[in-house]
Amino acid sequence: MSILLISLAIIFLIIAIWFTRRSSNLRRSLDEQNNLIKNLNLQLSSLSAERARLAAVLDQMTDGVLIVDSQGRIQFANPASKKLFETVDPINRSIVEVVRHHQLVEAWQRCQQTNELQSESIEVPARRQFLQLVVIPDAHAGGSLLLVQDLTRVRRLETVRRDFISNISHELRTPLASLKALTETLQNGALSDPEAGPRFLSRIVTEVDALTQMTQELLDLSRIESGQVELNLAPISPKKLLISACDRMKLQAERAGLTLRVECSDDLPNVRADYARLEQVLVNLIHNSVKFTRPGGEVILLAETADTEERSAGGGVRFGVKDTGIGIPSEDVPRIFERFYRVDRSRSGSGTGLGLSIARHIVETHQGKIWVDSIEGQGSTFFFTIPQSAADVPQA
Ligand code: ADP
Repeated sequence: MSILLISLAIIFLIIAIWFTRRSSNLRRSLDEQNNLIKNLNLQLSSLSAERARLAAVLDQMTDGVLIVDSQGRIQFANPASKKLFETVDPINRSIVEVVRHHQLVEAWQRCQQTNELQSESIEVPARRQFLQLVVIPDAHAGGSLLLVQDLTRVRRLETVRRDFISNISHELRTPLASLKALTETLQNGALSDPEAGPRFLSRIVTEVDALTQMTQELLDLSRIESGQVELNLAPISPKKLLISACDRMKLQAERAGLTLRVECSDDLPNVRADYARLEQVLVNLIHNSVKFTRPGGEVILLAETADTEERSAGGGVRFGVKDTGIGIPSEDVPRIFERFYRVDRSRSGSGTGLGLSIARHIVETHQGKIWVDSIEGQGSTFFFTIPQSAADVPQA
């Protein structure tokens, strides 16, 4: 009997030990599984954070990115590439259909055939674009990755710079050639001529003045364009400003046989502007009106409340310089504010073609807008808007 009991106790003991071992093994493997799940979760969340970061980079990139499979079907396109190729939903469409340019397609085909990186610079006249393309073979999927950089702006700046240098050399050549001719004539005997001597000398002074004016205007323009000019903004009465510009130019207008007057009501709100700079704009415009209006004509300086559309674009008061002059041909109007642009060199006398460009920059630095209404043979009105001074804006 006692042997039976002892045997039973031993069996129980063995079973108990087996259960304890098994449960501790189970607990250990459960712990391991928990750790595994924790690690997996960690890896998953860091993977999705990485994905989100990558997606944000691709979304914000200004360069276009396209992923194309081996069949030439687009698998991925970031927003910049959609904008560059003017397409809304390029996914699963063929690359030929989306990029619509044979050089781009050929670069992609070369990459597919050779499995080597291809790079190409192309001009797309239809979309007025200049693009730089890099096609990278995708070793895993057999497709390729296309990186497209928009160099249109850089190219345009290069052209502007080139035109500017060629314009400026041209503008300098004329007065310099005159100066050389005049001094040579003086050297060759005209200096001792009591009549021709002083005449040539005064022409030299005129040419030097023109060169000085051009240098000053170029300097002004470059300062304004590069943002070096700090505006001294203060509330200014439009009428006071017009009267002061009118006083400055009155004598010049009278000498040209013109009437110069101000038309402006007293109750206009103040504008927020740099007094000296805004007066410079008005003086430039009046100077042109005087130059391009025949004797007996009239130049009127006006200011009025801007209309609703102009106000929503930031302009509070609309200024105007109106003349009864020769006007501007309609085909020249869109280019009139460009540097060195002159409608007809023979009619613009000593002008440099920089005055309107300076005026536009000053107005735009004030967050305003400048434009012209003109009828050839009848006259021109140059308008510009300037924001209202904050103290004068009616509170909602
Ligand atoms: P400029 O020094 O030649 O006057 P602007 O930039 O001030 O240079 O003007 C550019 C051109 O615009 C002038 O050469 C002229 O052909 C034309 N223009 C400007 N203002 C007037 C105006 N009030 N009437 C007619 N033409 C004008």
